[in-house]
Amino acid sequence: MNSFETLSISKGMVENLNNLEYKQMTPIQEKSIPIIIEGRDIIAKAKTGSGKTAAFGIGILEKLNVKKFRVQSLVLCPTRELAEQVTAELRKLARFKHNIKILKLTGGIPLYKQEGSLFHEAHIVVGTPGRILKLLERGSLNLDHLKNLVLDEADRMLDMGFSDEINAILDFLPQNIQTLCFSATFASDIKLFTKKVLNDPVDIEVESTH
Ligand code: ADP
Ligand code: MG
Repeated sequence: MNSFETLSISKGMVENLNNLEYKQMTPIQEKSIPIIIEGRDIIAKAKTGSGKTAAFGIGILEKLNVKKFRVQSLVLCPTRELAEQVTAELRKLARFKHNIKILKLTGGIPLYKQEGSLFHEAHIVVGTPGRILKLLERGSLNLDHLKNLVLDEADRMLDMGFSDEINAILDFLPQNIQTLCFSATFASDIKLFTKKVLNDPVDIEVESTH
């Protein structure tokens, strides 16, 4: 495994990773972060616990313009619990970026509260497909300035029947965004689904031992 210093990422990020005691990249991070930074779409497969959140988190945070107070990244997760975990991990990874706002938007919280938070904008939104679609349809979430979309645990989202919601969300996104798809399996329906969503993606597969 390689150290994060071998990547072309900001000094602030390297220092923060040191503070978090992330010394070495996990295999999925080593393979995917350089390609994400390059701007390519990816479809990445790696087991649970292999560090997928930091793989896309470092990538999207490095591309983010904190001075531009618009939603630049959307992360879709299958459940509220996973959205909570991803939000917590992204906030840790973003600790060195002052004034960054990472907003979690899932069901179970009154819409008016989320619409109140959205009134003040955010840089990154993490959410579940149903609630994100609802906020888009109501016009309270604007993704016109989106740079990248992450489909986290894409296989589970499809298993849970979210493909219609995800397709509907895609209609609200600008053309030519970067899409990063992460999954623990490469079931055939994933390949089929992502073929429509991803643009000339790089396939990344890690035979993880942990
Ligand atoms: P996955 O999404 O692949 O299931 P997570 O992103 O949830 O995995 O990461 C699992 C755990 O590993 C988290 O607690 C995270 O903080 C930790 N982690 C991720 N990358 C590293 C790293 N390079 N070094 C040490 N710990 C890491
Ligand atoms: Mg994960």
